[in-house]
Amino acid sequence: MDLKDLYRDVIVDHNRHPRNFGKLQPADVHADGHNPLCGDRLTMYANLKGEHITDVKFEGAGCAISVASASLLTEAVKGKTKSEVKELFDDVHALLTQHDATVDPAKLGKLAALSGVREFPARVKCASLCWHTLNAALDRAAEPVTTE
Ligand code: ZN
Repeated sequence: MDLKDLYRDVIVDHNRHPRNFGKLQPADVHADGHNPLCGDRLTMYANLKGEHITDVKFEGAGCAISVASASLLTEAVKGKTKSEVKELFDDVHALLTQHDATVDPAKLGKLAALSGVREFPARVKCASLCWHTLNAALDRAAEPVTTE
């Protein structure tokens, strides 16, 4: 099996069996994302402790790429800080859009499976929707509301 087959299998698996799928209740932050080009709709939920993401879930419907990407995202960002998530998104975005991306695949783990998307520029927005949506949710949490 070559790398392309492996990557395709990861996408198919995460589309059929999305990880961390469902509503996070209660959620500290959430945001809705819509990709009108394809019709993908996602809601990203996260719980935070200080700067760290302690839990993340998503729900919604869309194409295989959008669902698989969101599923891979949830596995990748749990436990990371908000700034680490933004760095990771920069790497993922480079992977999605640049053929000569100098991103270390080992650093990306399973997210490297998204590299196949760069062959289909129209699908980049499908794969990045979940990241933009999560960032929107995290930005809104810049000034956390506390009841303590
Ligand atoms: Zn899509």
